[in-house]
Amino acid sequence: MSELDISKFQLQTYPCPICGGRRNKNLYSIQVFNIVKCKTCGMTFVNPRISNEKIFDVYRHKYFCRNQDGYNDYESTASLRIQTFEKWYIDIEPYCIRKGFALDIGCAAGYFIDILQDNLWKAEGIELDHQMYGLLIKKGYSISNDPLEYFNSSRQYDLITMFDVIEHLPRLQKDFAKISSLLSSRVFWRCPHQILIVCNTNCSEVAGFNSSQ
Ligand SMILES: [Zn+2]
Repeated sequence: MSELDISKFQLQTYPCPICGGRRNKNLYSIQVFNIVKCKTCGMTFVNPRISNEKIFDVYRHKYFCRNQDGYNDYESTASLRIQTFEKWYIDIEPYCIRKGFALDIGCAAGYFIDILQDNLWKAEGIELDHQMYGLLIKKGYSISNDPLEYFNSSRQYDLITMFDVIEHLPRLQKDFAKISSLLSSRVFWRCPHQILIVCNTNCSEVAGFNSSQ
């Protein structure tokens, strides 16, 4: 599939990704998508939405340059993005007790990986978009093209980051369990500062979380 018509995907109704509740209140719509609020826990999410079986196709084909349902031209804003990532790294670093292996989930063009490497991390990434993935592999980065739920690694990471990603994860509970399993247990058991950094488009600051929370 070289082009993607998002309107051709069949939509499927899902329970709340946090509590499993099925009672929602409609808030508003964007294009064909309804934004709903769970009446049990208050989680706001898209429902119905593209099925778990098809959702990753949305991110595989020219996601960073196809405009209407992805980015217009991600790399044209490189300098601004790098500035933002540099600021976020400064925010993150005080939480880190060791600069070992880092994993950036949804690493796009690898800008944050560059910053990690400049700061002496051994950094890897996950990127679904074929075009970005190909470019990163060509440049010698260590990148997986698998969705997080299928990602396999023998490593335990001292830092896992995902920027503008959490709102795209279809199975939040499972994905967070996976992230937890990838974080370094050695760090976890010795010190409470195991870090997962989460930032989505609605938050203005990077948040650091102890994995036991
Ligand atoms: Zn809920």
